[in-house]
Amino acid sequence: MRIAVGQLWQETNTFNRNATNLNAFRDWGIAQGAEVLTRYGNTGEIGGFVDECRTWNSAIELVGLARMACWPWGAVDAETWKWICETFVSSLKSAGKVDGVLLALHGAMCADGEPDVTGRLLELTREVVGPKVPIVGTLDLHANLTRQMMESADVLVGYHTSPHLDHFETGQRGVRSLRRIIEGGVHPAKYARKLPMMTPAESHNTFTGTPAPLYRKLEALERDPRVLSAGLYMVMPWFDCPELGWTITLHTTAADSHWDDVVQELADDCWNLRHAMCQIDRLLPDEAVAKAKSIGHPVVIGDGADATNSGAPGDSTGLLRELLKQQPIPFGAMTFVVDPEAVTAAHNLGVGGAFDMHVGASFSPEFSDPVRVRGTVEKLLRVVFILNGHGGKEMPINMGRGAVVKSGDVSVLFTERSGVGSSPLLYETAGLKPRECGIVIAKSPAGFRADYEPFCKAVILSDGPGCATPNWHRLKFEHINQPLWPLQEINSPEEAEWCADSEPRRSE
Ligand SMILES: [Zn+2]
Repeated sequence: MRIAVGQLWQETNTFNRNATNLNAFRDWGIAQGAEVLTRYGNTGEIGGFVDECRTWNSAIELVGLARMACWPWGAVDAETWKWICETFVSSLKSAGKVDGVLLALHGAMCADGEPDVTGRLLELTREVVGPKVPIVGTLDLHANLTRQMMESADVLVGYHTSPHLDHFETGQRGVRSLRRIIEGGVHPAKYARKLPMMTPAESHNTFTGTPAPLYRKLEALERDPRVLSAGLYMVMPWFDCPELGWTITLHTTAADSHWDDVVQELADDCWNLRHAMCQIDRLLPDEAVAKAKSIGHPVVIGDGADATNSGAPGDSTGLLRELLKQQPIPFGAMTFVVDPEAVTAAHNLGVGGAFDMHVGASFSPEFSDPVRVRGTVEKLLRVVFILNGHGGKEMPINMGRGAVVKSGDVSVLFTERSGVGSSPLLYETAGLKPRECGIVIAKSPAGFRADYEPFCKAVILSDGPGCATPNWHRLKFEHINQPLWPLQEINSPEEAEWCADSEPRRSE
């Protein structure tokens, strides 16, 4: 039995005007052929694929295709996208005859000229392997499900957690579905319901948040032997592409009108929660820092608008400006700014050098202005570590060179490239102590809670500038289907006729 394994993973923020190029994928790790498994056989969903395949009755030979992963950023440029397609197709062709395909995907990824990268990759895969070889794809919970994806894959399996902590288990669930098809002879029936709504990422907490009961329902559904996969995709809102909206999916062992009722009930539940999911307290950067100073330590401030975990560049100066201004800060504060020029300047100065330059706002000057930082270069490093926690399991992180500059009570970690904004590991890699400080900034809307809440006294959500702002009226959506709540006020999903068009043609 030969099973092909590949990965294409990036979350695209279409409001980040900086393109993702091939070098960005190289920085984060491209593997082809056997290297996919030798280098990434323990990482995230691929780790789950490998682990679960060991439980099969038949001897399995895993065949590596290609692995391309890249941190969230702007849309992939056309040349890189062409290269990705050609590389995947040639890897599939050179893999020879396979009995199944496992692909670890994100689902909210777009390229210049291709708004549905995930759907197109699944379609290309189908063209190469033909109609009879089963294809199972895994997706982020923020995937934007499209009709193309549903039609091209036999089964899609999405994360059930946000903060995302089930990468490995999602891979395992994908393999269990594939096994039902290959060893059990199941022909999956597919159900999907698109809802014309999007909701702020801060409320996407499947453990304790408003949508938690919905995810418990999905888990219960997957315990039913007739269900291969149950998904609820709350969508990445900064994704100006067609078919943007929440989606419910169900893959079952056979078609039955009962499943239409199950999906309808879930759809009603989702739609009825939409207002509750927008009840979020956010503070302007000056208020956020002032409040943090008043309530003990450490306090983590989530900067959702500049969330590197949501594809923002991590260059906003909204909170940095306030940290510098509102000194003294007992026990100190720390933040990070993606600014390659500041890194180079610090490296030229050397440790102990007197740093004085305007930093930040270099990738997205339309959202904030550079701010002057005067201080001392305290540390020079390569920002390289292994992420475990929200966003990754055994995931190699490479944010390039870095430098810590201390300005009074504020430590600023400058990095050459974007990367994890949700984990204290970022600061700890640089020798800083987020667990003991006064204020620490996480550039993440919600996922940071998994890694910070265990030791932080309080969590504050900031309403700063940036291309991952929850204030969508500040952004110009041009390619989505409309109406889409809450951009337009609609009272029932039926008012959005485009949703019916985006559901998959029934395949049973
Ligand atoms: Zn996500």
